[in-house]
Amino acid sequence: MSNRIDPTLMHELKEYGAVGIEKCFNCGNCTAICPLTSDEYAFPRNMIRLTQVGMKERMQSSLDPWLCYYCGDCSETCPKQAEPGESMMAMRRWLTAQYDWTGLAHKFYTSKAWEFGSIILLGALVFVLIAVLHGPIATEHVALNTFAPLRIVHAADWIMAGLLVFFIGSNVLRMYLMTMRQGNGPKIPLGIYITEAWNLVFHAVTQRRWATCAADEKDEKIKKSKQTSWIIHMLLASGYGLMLILIVFFLSWFQTDEIYPLYHPQRWLGYYATIVLLLGAGRALWGRIQQEVQMHRFSHPSDWIFPVLLLAVTLTGILQHIFRYADLPLLTYYTYAIHLAFTAPMLILEVPFGKWAHLYYRPLAIYFQVVKEKASQYQEKQAAEAVASAAD
Ligand code: SF4
Ligand code: SF4
Repeated sequence: MSNRIDPTLMHELKEYGAVGIEKCFNCGNCTAICPLTSDEYAFPRNMIRLTQVGMKERMQSSLDPWLCYYCGDCSETCPKQAEPGESMMAMRRWLTAQYDWTGLAHKFYTSKAWEFGSIILLGALVFVLIAVLHGPIATEHVALNTFAPLRIVHAADWIMAGLLVFFIGSNVLRMYLMTMRQGNGPKIPLGIYITEAWNLVFHAVTQRRWATCAADEKDEKIKKSKQTSWIIHMLLASGYGLMLILIVFFLSWFQTDEIYPLYHPQRWLGYYATIVLLLGAGRALWGRIQQEVQMHRFSHPSDWIFPVLLLAVTLTGILQHIFRYADLPLLTYYTYAIHLAFTAPMLILEVPFGKWAHLYYRPLAIYFQVVKEKASQYQEKQAAEAVASAAD
């Protein structure tokens, strides 16, 4: 790997939300308190140093920013207000843009005009498509499937799912190439990738590192708040995933004119997703308004856009549900159109290019990190065995 210096790196990171990083004078307080610090590794000071000296390729190949769950301890102990926790957050945004070959993540993170313009444009496009392609408008009773024929909505769903798989897959491949195939690290046997794959699923589902961060907290009040945030974040991810699965694979079961009885799983799954999305988005926004905990003290525009979109999707979904049950046809159709106009940008723009991407990059990074460690241990063992057999 080349060690070329890029003097613009620190300025670039500021565009992604780093505040005060230039004030760091390398005292090491943050390293002493960070739970991720090890004997070999000064966390997060090492990453700040790489930024200050402009080692862009070393930054690109690092998994470290993804291992941090923003407990905020480092920022609280920094004597210079260099905000190392927020710098790690900015590095995650920056890395998301580095993995993204389309350049859209960079545009969205660094330009409000691009971010808001794209959301408005995509929402408007969905609205126009519904206006052009909708079926007959029944006004006697609600007939949503007549207004929005399932085969058209389903086709749009599959196009969207295909785009998501393509963009996420190609960006994840770039992440793999940047972080696992650069430099002089150990050669990794395929078997290690396979035997350690459970880490990927485990961390994606449980977000366990966050819980560990909360468990290490000494202040009981903050500990409770962190534990609650972890549980809500985990539930939010499950609701988001469930909503995506329902929309893509079970639309005919979910978008129906039939009113299912209360005990039917279709209703409970829908209610579960609605409640956790509402809770997650509401809490994220409330936390950012209050700014009480360290991780909410600074807010990049992307930190607002995601929960606002999520809230808009959830509320319009609830309204549409109410209007459908109250048998108010026109209100149901209009709310449905608005609901889709919010849903499309939230999925198509936020999942591969925006804040949502951390939900797959982070468990992937933890998995890659474990694979690297196991590969090093494997190599050391092999080297020791070779020495032993040579001595024999
Ligand atoms: S505590 Fe602050 S000044 Fe000290 S190394 Fe960390 S970021 Fe730099
Ligand atoms: S926010 Fe917490 S985990 Fe992240 S670098 Fe700072 S102390 Fe470490």
